[in-house]
Amino acid sequence: MDSSKHIFSADRRNQIIKELKSREFDLVIIGGGITGAGIALDAATRGMSVALIEKIDFGSGTSGRSTKLIHGGLRYLKNFEFSLVKSVGKERAIVYRNAPHLVVPEKMLLPIFTNGNFNRFTTNLALWVYDRIASVKKKERRIMLNRKETIAKVPIIRSAELKGSGFYSEYRTDDARLTLEIVKTASAYGALCINYMCCTDLTINAGEIARVVCCDELYDDQLSIKCKKVVNASGPWVDQVRKIDSSIQGKKIFHTKGVHLVVPRSRLNIGHGIYFDAGDDRMIFVIPRFENTYIGTTDTVYKGSLEKPEVTVNDVNYLIDSVNAMFPSVGLNSKEIISSWSGLRPLIYQEGKMPSSISRKDEIFISDSGLITIAGGKLTGYRLMAKKTVDLVCKQLNVVQECRTDSIRILGGEFKKEGMVRAYITNLKTRMKSFGLNVNEAEILVRAFGKQTDTILNKTRSFEKEKLIQALAWFCLRNEQVHTLSDFYIRRLGYLHFYPDRIRSTIDLVIPIFSSFLKWDEERIENERNEIYGHLRSITEFKDEDAEA
Ligand code: FAD
Repeated sequence: MDSSKHIFSADRRNQIIKELKSREFDLVIIGGGITGAGIALDAATRGMSVALIEKIDFGSGTSGRSTKLIHGGLRYLKNFEFSLVKSVGKERAIVYRNAPHLVVPEKMLLPIFTNGNFNRFTTNLALWVYDRIASVKKKERRIMLNRKETIAKVPIIRSAELKGSGFYSEYRTDDARLTLEIVKTASAYGALCINYMCCTDLTINAGEIARVVCCDELYDDQLSIKCKKVVNASGPWVDQVRKIDSSIQGKKIFHTKGVHLVVPRSRLNIGHGIYFDAGDDRMIFVIPRFENTYIGTTDTVYKGSLEKPEVTVNDVNYLIDSVNAMFPSVGLNSKEIISSWSGLRPLIYQEGKMPSSISRKDEIFISDSGLITIAGGKLTGYRLMAKKTVDLVCKQLNVVQECRTDSIRILGGEFKKEGMVRAYITNLKTRMKSFGLNVNEAEILVRAFGKQTDTILNKTRSFEKEKLIQALAWFCLRNEQVHTLSDFYIRRLGYLHFYPDRIRSTIDLVIPIFSSFLKWDEERIENERNEIYGHLRSITEFKDEDAEA
């Protein structure tokens, strides 16, 4: 592994492009979401030469807009998908081990009501089965709570008809950062990964060297990459890429939209996540995250633009009404929403099925030309999807190399034991205090950057005021292929969704660092500013489809 500094610096772009143009790769991956990232890591660690191209930013598709859970798939039990629960449960443990800073245990409460979809017996049985087949550790296994114990855990929960609850374990993550850190880890193992590089054409003929034609979205240039195999891991866009390859046959992708809302924790103050039935056969998560609580998700058929799925007034009303029904004393209203996001599930179409009952299983399609497409799946199961894909590539290339990603630490996660993350946070608080920094930021930093926080902390010495945000900008530019303010604020720091005010209060300090490093002129600065302010408006502006009809 090449752990040399700045391997993923934004100013290495020209060097990466030069190599993309001149080398011939074993494998080119289209798409820098979790699926493409996992494949890049798996293939690079098996010794293949790998290039990954992402048309916008790593994690800017569905992988940055999920419910942010690394979960054992309890809901799949409803559809009797036992093998899926078993495999995602195992995977959850592996992701937790390899990225312990990014995967945080989160207790969930599953309430039981008279006349609800679950009764005490079925909930207990389902959670018992879940604990066993998802290989949940003994100390994390479910506990059944009675009505009084449930109210003690979540005093604001609806008490009418409440009978009790199941209390079980899930894991929370930062999806965009998990994706990025896997891409960075793959780069450290030799993969050439680049963002803002869109595949626009493909020439693949069985037995011949393939060409992946790309457009450099930052500098409006074209290049062609030579390779032996091409994997299409473009999530919701897989059929668009299959169209480029003229290879849409058989099964197609079907999109459903999932919306999340963020409200201040002070308005929806729960100590644990809650997973409840919205009354229409859909399940909703309410999850605390530092100073906020987020709510999701909807699951509706989506046929609009794949680039910017909008949050509608109907989506908002549905989620707010569901929350108010579960926590009647809260009386939440849409004006209290501080942010929202919307993501698309790339599901494999199944005739006659409702969106929420379509399987989340992944599937591989191989076109006549040889393009390998992987679609469907979950964030949690990314490593197994990658293994399956790379096993196939190895078979086709006659490479005999076993997958070893189950024991590869993701960058930032180099803690000997999971428990050491907490000790690191405690120690960091002491160091931050001595640096004159706000110690409340310690956990937020470690949950995003893991051990890389040391480098960020040291850099704060170079600045006089607002040291942390400037050190973060410096770090992300040099280590995280950040090219726009959106990359930085949305996906590297998660501020758009969880701390939008911080963008407004720090942007004037951040812009000089970006413009000096990336050599922005006044026009570019203006465009960047407009873009991020556009995002800031869009997180609380909801489309009223009924008014437009
Ligand atoms: P994406 O993340 O969308 O990545 C595809 C990438 O390909 C994009 O970045 C795109 O820009 C790029 N691309 C497209 N076309 C091109 C091109 N021509 N050239 C180059 N690049 C291109 N799973 C969980 O495990 N836990 C959860 O809590 C969870 N919650 C979810 C909630 C919602 C609302 C949704 C929608 C999904 C959720 N999932 C969850 C599922 C999970 O998020 C997805 O399965 C996963 O993120 C898909 O990743 P991907 O890499 O396949 O797609």
